[in-house]
Amino acid sequence: MANKDYTFKDLTPYLDKYMALQTAISIMDWDDSTAAPEEASEYTSKMLGILSQEQFMTLINPQVKEMIEQFDEEQLSLTEKAVLKRIRKEYEKSEAIPAKEKREYTELTSRAFNIWQKAKKENDFSVYAPYLKKVIAFRKKFAGYSQKEDAKLYDILLEEYEESFRMKELDRFFAKLKEEIIPLLKKIEQAEEIDDSFFYLDYDIEKQKEFNRYIAEYMGFDFKRGLIAESEHPFTTNWHNHDVRITTRYYKDNLPSAILSTIHECGHALYEQGVRDELTQTLVGEGASCAMHESQSRFYENIIGRSEAFWEPLYPKLVELFPEQLGNISLQQFVRALNKVKADLIRTEADELTYCLHIMVRYELEKQMIEENIAVDELPELWNQKYAEYLGVSPENDSEGILQDVHWSMGDIGYFPSYALGNAFAAQIYNTMKKELDVDKLLREGRISEITAYLRKHIHQYGASKEPRELLKELTGEEFNPDYYIQYLKEKFEQVYGL
Ligand code: ZN
Repeated sequence: MANKDYTFKDLTPYLDKYMALQTAISIMDWDDSTAAPEEASEYTSKMLGILSQEQFMTLINPQVKEMIEQFDEEQLSLTEKAVLKRIRKEYEKSEAIPAKEKREYTELTSRAFNIWQKAKKENDFSVYAPYLKKVIAFRKKFAGYSQKEDAKLYDILLEEYEESFRMKELDRFFAKLKEEIIPLLKKIEQAEEIDDSFFYLDYDIEKQKEFNRYIAEYMGFDFKRGLIAESEHPFTTNWHNHDVRITTRYYKDNLPSAILSTIHECGHALYEQGVRDELTQTLVGEGASCAMHESQSRFYENIIGRSEAFWEPLYPKLVELFPEQLGNISLQQFVRALNKVKADLIRTEADELTYCLHIMVRYELEKQMIEENIAVDELPELWNQKYAEYLGVSPENDSEGILQDVHWSMGDIGYFPSYALGNAFAAQIYNTMKKELDVDKLLREGRISEITAYLRKHIHQYGASKEPRELLKELTGEEFNPDYYIQYLKEKFEQVYGL
């Protein structure tokens, strides 16, 4: 049985070093995406490769292995148990992967990311294709190392991001979306088009920055424990709950783009800033999962951030900054325009309704990449076909087609479905929240902090010490149920379009 010579404390130096290296790597990644000069990437990739291997070996080594095998679990606290579960998972995942291959892979993805940036900019899929091919090969190889009997390769990848969500459940989920959302979209396309032309006038970037900062503060983003920078692809990064950084992206001729990105990333950041102090800088000191994270960012972006109640206290400030552009636009017109549905090419700019169709395209392609050995060169054409079929639009070039997303370059194959699950989690959470809080009234009165406090109490504070399914069940009283999402979308957009 247990060897009492080891206590959880003996693990601390290893865990501390692991987190320190994790932080160092994230800082370099952050720098690479926001500030580093173009030519820096090659050397940075090499250093990241070395640091990642060092980090890997901090946890995956004979001493740690001996400890975790001999712990007496009954002596551990709930948090320690959760940390131990994570470590065991890391072992399961990475023990099978030789350190050399892991290092090669890290270098490859770092390089592929930079190549993707170049390819997108120059609209040239052919320079990126060989890298993507290698990334896919590595992912399949790694998945094969930990393949279980009842799981397909793509299931293994999916479970890396969202435990226990496999193709079987996702196929059903997307089938339901396809069945309900595509007909709704067709009806909307017949309806009268919403005028949102005032979003695309000339909006001074400095003023936009001022407003985005204002909105982040309003949402409760703590600038003493975070900052906002700019990057090509908005994201959030957290080193601990006292340093959570977001990026956004400004366009002179597109007002909602930066605003909705900021609200979205603030949703991620509020989650991270809300993790309890005793959990931060541990293996369970961040959001519970990708989908749970997306549920928070999308809750703020879509359910809250596109509602009239949210904008009631904020809109006057926006009009004050842009009187020429918005002086004649009422709050109702503004909010209606924020909810305009228009099937288009770019996922990150997609409206709330068609967003999940963009994810469906990626889900189907990932399945083909992993399960059907589709040739990388065929991907652009397949992409375009699916867009034509589901959304009725066709990219004119690969930059707005297959090259638009960063994820695959970084090896994140199996990640996209978590965005759709996040939407579904958010709708389920919202359904329960509405029974306990008068969400609209709170928003109209500028009391968004009470909504965040509710999420902090039920979700944020726990970090990853509880599983997403557990958090969802404790909060809503039932298992994951995507019907709330479909119901929410139908009700909302039938109302917006008066159907
Ligand atoms: Zn997000």
